Amino acid sequence: MSILLVEDEAGIVSFVQRGLESAGHQVLTASDGVDGLILAQSSDVDLVILDLGLPGLPGEEVLRRLRRRRPSVPVIVLTAKDAVSDRVANLDAGADDYTVKPFSLNELLARVRARLRTSGQERGDALAAGGVTLDFGGHVAHVDGTAITLSAREFALLAVFIRHPGQVFSRPQLLDLVWGYDFEGASNVVEVYVSQLRRKLGADRIQTVRGVGYRLNGRG
Ligand code: CA
Repeated sequence: MSILLVEDEAGIVSFVQRGLESAGHQVLTASDGVDGLILAQSSDVDLVILDLGLPGLPGEEVLRRLRRRRPSVPVIVLTAKDAVSDRVANLDAGADDYTVKPFSLNELLARVRARLRTSGQERGDALAAGGVTLDFGGHVAHVDGTAITLSAREFALLAVFIRHPGQVFSRPQLLDLVWGYDFEGASNVVEVYVSQLRRKLGADRIQTVRGVGYRLNGRG
């Protein structure tokens, strides 16, 4: 797999590059946001590791522009900022996962493995349940035959429900499965995204199971 590392700290670049190469990956590097964005747009890049504090173009802006051009390439953000509000802002810009500096190589490699596994499974497949079809290749959902546009995060959340129709997922489970880390403190990010999905799919597609969580209504 070909991985692009966008990072301006030479020490981190050499440490991460060595680790990725020893895990069998091909590694491209960029030390500023402008070069990083250009390289990330190549379809040869299977995954992007993106520092947020970059010269040239901030990582957040690299992510926003990259998402417009390649909505489904996995992006793992490296960040020194550990505030929940920053993380939510990055989620909305389309990051798949986070590693907070300082991090261990093993932690980063585990996240890379998880993201490559997920994107491999989702390439070109379609799944259907409860009247909803998800096309993983085109990142499009169809509800009773009508095409629905979803954001990357809405798509990921719906994919969890579609893979397990009828199964109830708790809020922490959904945070872990869709956002890939333990949220600190209270956050209503799951509720916000569930209500967005209900607006787009129809109110009864995703049911609230009081005190437990949410599930896809398989009878829809
Ligand atoms: Ca930096």
